[in-house]
Amino acid sequence: MTFTDKLSVLYSRDEIASKIKLLAQDIKRDYRDKNPILISILKGSFIFMADLVRELDFPLEVEFVRFSSYGKGKKSSGKIEVIQGVTFEVENRHVLIIDDIVDSGLTCKFLKDILIEKKAASVKVCALSSKPSQHTVPVDIDYSGLIVPDKFVVGYGLDFNQKFRNLPDICLLEENK
Ligand code: 5GP
Ligand code: MG
Repeated sequence: MTFTDKLSVLYSRDEIASKIKLLAQDIKRDYRDKNPILISILKGSFIFMADLVRELDFPLEVEFVRFSSYGKGKKSSGKIEVIQGVTFEVENRHVLIIDDIVDSGLTCKFLKDILIEKKAASVKVCALSSKPSQHTVPVDIDYSGLIVPDKFVVGYGLDFNQKFRNLPDICLLEENK
């Protein structure tokens, strides 16, 4: 497969790896004795989840939900479609949401509200990246990684029409290049 010259690297694989090590330090400090459930929001956060859990050297569980709000294209529909919801027990468990990128904040808030309603002992959010200028609902990102400008990015799990997820870097996808 070849990728076009429409891509420019925003965060390299090395920068991503260093940031994940820093996030992991904080998570280790806070969750070492809590046997947390890490819940990855698919599909975008599958690579982040895989890299993050391998930096964590204490007992934990992993679960996955799958939501979609983009469909085809670069703009969120604003409506969250639940493809696979919270089918596992969270009552009295410490849960940590693992997300690829917080844009409007709607997806994170949506999942957080479900987990609180299901009586999780605590619910926190870890996001590899965030577009602070785009947040339309207040989301507390407890473990926040890379800042992304108001541009569309792909790679490291993030797609455009299901492509580019396998790029090792986070890249800007230019419109007319
Ligand atoms: P929300 O607007 O609900 O915070 O973001 C929902 C989801 O939209 C994110 O988890 C991510 O999967 C996707 N998303 C947001 N911004 C981008 C982007 O720049 N590129 C890609 N590929 N997906 C994005
Ligand atoms: Mg996502």
